[in-house]
Amino acid sequence: MQFANVDGRRVEARPGSQGQCPLCDREVLSRCGEINAWHWAHKQRRDCDSWAEGESAWHRAWKERFPRQWRELVVGSHRADIKSPRGVIELQASSISTSEVADREAFYGEMVWVLNAQDFDLTIRDRGSYVTFRWKHPRKTWWIAEKQLYFDLGEQLIKINRIYDNLPCGGSGSFLGYDKFVASFSQPKPGHKLCDQCWMPFASRQLIETSMHEYYTMDLDPGTAMCPDCYESHREGFIPDDPSLFDCYTPVTIY
Ligand SMILES: [Zn+2]
Ligand SMILES: [Zn+2]
Repeated sequence: MQFANVDGRRVEARPGSQGQCPLCDREVLSRCGEINAWHWAHKQRRDCDSWAEGESAWHRAWKERFPRQWRELVVGSHRADIKSPRGVIELQASSISTSEVADREAFYGEMVWVLNAQDFDLTIRDRGSYVTFRWKHPRKTWWIAEKQLYFDLGEQLIKINRIYDNLPCGGSGSFLGYDKFVASFSQPKPGHKLCDQCWMPFASRQLIETSMHEYYTMDLDPGTAMCPDCYESHREGFIPDDPSLFDCYTPVTIY
């Protein structure tokens, strides 16, 4: 994993450091070699998240396409690779079982799959507005997937429209650039906006829009949109422990 908690902050691995797993809270050690991307690993080798895959360069490159606030977020008993305003993006490089595909789809609900398809044996035909493909030695697991599949070809994606679940296997879809993919997952749904702090989507009416009051009391620019949790934790940082220090600039809640 890319982030561990060190002194309450999410930090990346540096040589010879230790931290806590954001999911199970157990000790993790930095692994900073020359082959894999620098990452954190559990001290007792087994990852607490049974769905976790190794941190390959491919995984890391995908995570880097998104803001760090969206990477490796704890969702229930798992760490989602990317949790965007449009749902979870699961990155999958190795083969997994059909039951695991079904489990993850049921667990996350709003999610898509991005598969590392660079070693899939695909023969692709560009037909202008769409593509068709033949898939030699298909990973049949993906025949049962109900969520949107994206095949990452290394230079662009295919957004899968359909895969025929028989042999010889083939299907259709359309080419999609990384930029467009990222943009489509970064836009909140209609009626929602992103919190300027945690970058998570909220119904617009849930967000607190700051004014000059917050500028003077909490050092926030006017017009900052914050979710209630971020607002509250930011405000707490500006409340003095000593009540005698309360003055007109103390950030009390205004209702
Ligand atoms: Zn853990
Ligand atoms: Zn927030």
